Amino acid sequence: MPKPVIAIVGRPNVGKSTIFNRIVGERVSIVEDIPGITRDRIYSSAEWLDHDFNIIDTGGIEIGDEPFLEQIRQQAEVAIDEADVIIFMVNGREGITAADEEVAKMLYRSKKPVVLAVNKVDNPEQMVNIYDFYALGFGEPIGISGAHGLGLGDLLDEAAKHFPDEDEQEYDESTIKFSLIGRPNVGKSSLVNAILGRERVIVSDIAGTTRDAIDTPFTKDGQDYVIIDTAGIRKKGKVYESTEKYSVLRALRAIDRSDVVLVVIDGEEGIIEQDKKIAGYAHEAGRAVVIVVNKWDAVEKDEKTMREFEQKIRDHFLFLSYAPIVFVSAKTKQRLQKLFPVINTVAENHSMRIKTNILNEVIVDAVAMNPTPTDKGRRLKINYATQVAVKPPAIVLFVNDPELLHFSYRRFLENRIRETFGFLGTPVRIIARKKN
Ligand code: GDP
Ligand code: GDP
Repeated sequence: MPKPVIAIVGRPNVGKSTIFNRIVGERVSIVEDIPGITRDRIYSSAEWLDHDFNIIDTGGIEIGDEPFLEQIRQQAEVAIDEADVIIFMVNGREGITAADEEVAKMLYRSKKPVVLAVNKVDNPEQMVNIYDFYALGFGEPIGISGAHGLGLGDLLDEAAKHFPDEDEQEYDESTIKFSLIGRPNVGKSSLVNAILGRERVIVSDIAGTTRDAIDTPFTKDGQDYVIIDTAGIRKKGKVYESTEKYSVLRALRAIDRSDVVLVVIDGEEGIIEQDKKIAGYAHEAGRAVVIVVNKWDAVEKDEKTMREFEQKIRDHFLFLSYAPIVFVSAKTKQRLQKLFPVINTVAENHSMRIKTNILNEVIVDAVAMNPTPTDKGRRLKINYATQVAVKPPAIVLFVNDPELLHFSYRRFLENRIRETFGFLGTPVRIIARKKN
């Protein structure tokens, strides 16, 4: 089931990013921070009561040097294209401006559900100002204050009323959903075409089966797959599509809906900083990852080239040490047939469940081999381990004091677990909880 998407639109300085940050909060990441990877704070998952959703701050999408009004129009277009519900934000201290009216017109034509938020209503006396905004034609305005965090519950309650039916099952449980991500020109769309064109696949009817008509479901050797947000099939021609932030947004959304992410690298050009950033998103999201080196036909090779390239990838993507690497060519179709067994394997590992008794045997053996660390005279004691989740596998260790599980020992346990169970291609999360 895809998470509903909320987009915030409105002219600059009405408080969009303030509200976005309030709603997203300081999200506690159980993943270690990846040095050198800055988070783009325009897209995030969030929760409100029992709703999980994603939220976009369209204000963070800068459209080159377009004039002011055009920027806002483009941002509204992103919201209309990407969101299930739009929060249209205005400034309660300034009244309706021409730019607000412009946005209103676009949203009105779009027929997407719109919730009107009047921000900067910092105290009850200012509530009277919000009624002027009825004139925008989106029903009852909701007064909020980003500065004081007021009214956000009401706002999200209203937005959640318009979420699509959350019970809707998007694809069959056994279907492997994968996406191809990578910077422009690495060959994503060529790979998609090569996969769909030459591999003996049966492409299902694209339209109609999903909310997003840009997925490509197909069957190969009896296994169902969907390419999420198929590169290149998406209609082109909108100004914002070439912006860096928008392509990040698309990549994040595709990752979000995938089980397996193929991180595509240009073998001819090698690895650049942007590749690392994109790969970081897949890792952070906890997806199974395959690193695909494309354009291998164009590389001058001897018997060492592949191993050297592999080493370069390992050096650059330390956080993806678990990801298998496949060298292919979309152009010559070389090795493309090797891709599917790898996708199948990593997808299987991503949802693998380990029996508790076997897991505990492995932990006991590991501790016998390499005793737990001590800190200021106290020794880490692991009482019990159990797998609590799949996609990705997450293992909880019940310990005397979680602080005592240092990075290096966590890494040691993870390696032991990987050596025993495989887990090629999937992150494995290890969480320490206190229990004596
Ligand atoms: P954006 O351009 O729409 O993303 O707006 P920002 O979130 O950057 O906010 C613009 C300015 O308005 C900043 O100086 C904020 O501190 C301020 N601001 C945001 N929300 C409120 C609010 O509820 N009340 C007041 N008084 N100021 C706010
Ligand atoms: P995308 O932006 O990542 O979707 O990249 P495209 O699929 O549009 O490919 C970008 C360019 O790389 C095009 O000129 C392709 O013809 C070329 N290209 C793609 N795959 C290969 C390949 O395997 N070998 C070579 N030599 N060129 C390729």
